[in-house]
Amino acid sequence: MTEPKAKPERRAAVLFPMPLPEAFDYLVPDGLELAVGDHVIAPLGKRMAHGVVWALKEGPGERALKTLEGPAGGAPIPQGTRRFVDWVAKYLVQPPGIILRSVLRSSEALKPSPTETVYTRGSGEPARMTEAREKVLDAAEALGEASAADLAREAGVSSGVIKGLAEAGALTGLTRLVDPPFAEPDPDRDGLPLTVMQAEAAGKLRRLIQAGGFQSALLDGVTGSGKTEVYFEAVAEVLRRDPEAQILIMLPEIALTEAVLNRFEKRFGSEPALWHSGAGPKARRRTFREVAEGRARIVVGARSSLFLPFTKLRLIVVDEEHDPTYKQDEGLHYQGRDLAVVRAKLEGASVILASATPSLESLTNAEAGRYVHVHLPGRPGVAVLPEIGTIDLRETPPENGRWLSPPLLEAMRETLERGEQSLLYLNRRGYAPLVLCRKCGHRMMSPDTQSYLVEHRYTGRLVCHVTGFSMPKPKRCPACQAEDSLTSVGPGVERVAEEARHLFPEARVEIYSSDSASGADIVARMEQGEIDILVGTQIAAKGHNFPNLTLVGVIDADLGLAGGDPRAGERTFQTLVQVAGRAGRAERPGRALLQTHQPEHEAIQALVAGDREAFLDAEIMAREALGLPPFGRMAAIGFMAMNPKAVEDVAADFAAKAPVTDGVEIWGPAEPPRAVVRGWHRRRILVRADKTIDMSAYVRAWRSRVKTPPSVRVSIDIDPYSFI
Ligand code: ADP
Repeated sequence: MTEPKAKPERRAAVLFPMPLPEAFDYLVPDGLELAVGDHVIAPLGKRMAHGVVWALKEGPGERALKTLEGPAGGAPIPQGTRRFVDWVAKYLVQPPGIILRSVLRSSEALKPSPTETVYTRGSGEPARMTEAREKVLDAAEALGEASAADLAREAGVSSGVIKGLAEAGALTGLTRLVDPPFAEPDPDRDGLPLTVMQAEAAGKLRRLIQAGGFQSALLDGVTGSGKTEVYFEAVAEVLRRDPEAQILIMLPEIALTEAVLNRFEKRFGSEPALWHSGAGPKARRRTFREVAEGRARIVVGARSSLFLPFTKLRLIVVDEEHDPTYKQDEGLHYQGRDLAVVRAKLEGASVILASATPSLESLTNAEAGRYVHVHLPGRPGVAVLPEIGTIDLRETPPENGRWLSPPLLEAMRETLERGEQSLLYLNRRGYAPLVLCRKCGHRMMSPDTQSYLVEHRYTGRLVCHVTGFSMPKPKRCPACQAEDSLTSVGPGVERVAEEARHLFPEARVEIYSSDSASGADIVARMEQGEIDILVGTQIAAKGHNFPNLTLVGVIDADLGLAGGDPRAGERTFQTLVQVAGRAGRAERPGRALLQTHQPEHEAIQALVAGDREAFLDAEIMAREALGLPPFGRMAAIGFMAMNPKAVEDVAADFAAKAPVTDGVEIWGPAEPPRAVVRGWHRRRILVRADKTIDMSAYVRAWRSRVKTPPSVRVSIDIDPYSFI
């Protein structure tokens, strides 16, 4: 007699999008077909949770396991994405579930698209025509295809009328997907005829794509040189070679404007799939589903689009690759540009980094031959780069309490007289960055936060730009009770605009900042010449093409040069090049004037001379000497607690337990400049290591040595960008 053979036990390791240390094993119920990457529902604690099968195993496990509940539907998370999750978790010293959470951003996308019924005018006629029915039929003719609700609204009738007409055959109902697939892009439509220089650059990128596999390039072209048109050619080449290929184009969030999307549609004849934080749940589930099913070809997205479950990713373009917003500093700390290169490598895809002011990291990679360096040194047609000059504020200061110096005012006057536009750039929202009491010197601070309240005059409020706290501006000083003693110190865009309006009463002055109600409207009016003087923050400096803009005035070129940030000089240089680059993008030449107290500063000098190399050489030497990125590695370990003593003790204990290794330096714990936020007390340890050290492994080993109480939050930031 033979024993009946026991069926082998099937187990699935399931990763949940949560901060758990690893994937958990479950028994797979008989008859359930599962593959790695499938979405499943499994019991977790007292509830059912959605997770992803990370591995399948056979044979008896060591302990009794819970059984999986069942499949959760949707297209599986592809292998490339799963490998990316594991890689990123290891690199950022995070549990893999935290990274998976960045992938699973739309549970709705696991279900098929909902459907809806839409109506068109049918051939039948209702037996009896009423006024309401007539209105509906007129509406159906005007709208073409419309839902019952839309028809009823348009005709101003109840939806019962629609039903009757459909039954009579006067309206034809058809079922359509609420989230339809995106139309296929056509790589062979004509783009703009490329200049010789552009054609040469495009040729280099095309050859890169033809070579196949992981390839990387830095597209290094001056502002307005037409980098977009050039990388479009690489996108087209990918599509021609493989009609199933997927392409991701990453842009800084604020550059995701209608104008930019229109350019995609013009070139490829269809809208790309969008992905950004402002997209609603409906747009998100559509993009997620279409990407996961392998149907979406071109995705245009912000930083987080990097985590989408692409099935056949062949090219990633990171536009404005130097942009500091690619670094995410809330929740999960990561540098999107760097992870884009990693993702391309894991997927065997190409990556193109594009910028007029590439980061030092990317330039050193290009110079070392790790990236193909593609140059675009000029603008197409007659457009030339703006002339850049400085205004020494020590010699020609503005009048007391004013912010526009006489030479800048003169230039604005000339520009207005020629009927051209000016942009005044100041990266400070609101009216004044500080409000203080003339009597007692009290400074208005945000509650429980080390940050000044910023005066916003349009709304009449004092606002904390760190926490979002706001209050009406008080009549009396809260410290000494003196009446009407609170005074505004320093300029914000509202104050500069006030001055411009006062001095040029005939000019049309507008403010453009993240507080503006409708950015798209301001951009459109600026393009159409309906604004003479635009006073704007960072948001006005990026990616726009204003053909009639010929003067850029930088109110404070020194902002950002100070501080303990190793990238401060680089960032200032990049911002100023980008702002200046807004001028003279069409037939008329432009100029940029920088108001500064230190015209001799090397960043400013290099800018005026148009000598990027000189600036970079100095920057590279300084960073190399100090072993700072990209010549060394950095990490920041942050501590936060409500109790100041607890945070101090934990940070000190942490520092004391640092593994001792050659080539690693530990700085701190120290108070960051913003030592208290929303009542949370903060401390920070900075780690600098030689390039040969595996920083992630070092920090992981260190973290595992220290037990920290739950009252103190510890965050790990590999390659920190923010030092405030
Ligand atoms: P960049 O990204 O390098 O700053 P863009 O790609 O935004 O530059 O191009 C700048 C402007 O020049 C855009 O308005 C674009 O339409 C225009 N442009 C680019 N290439 C050409 C070309 N070959 N012919 C005519 N206009 C062009």
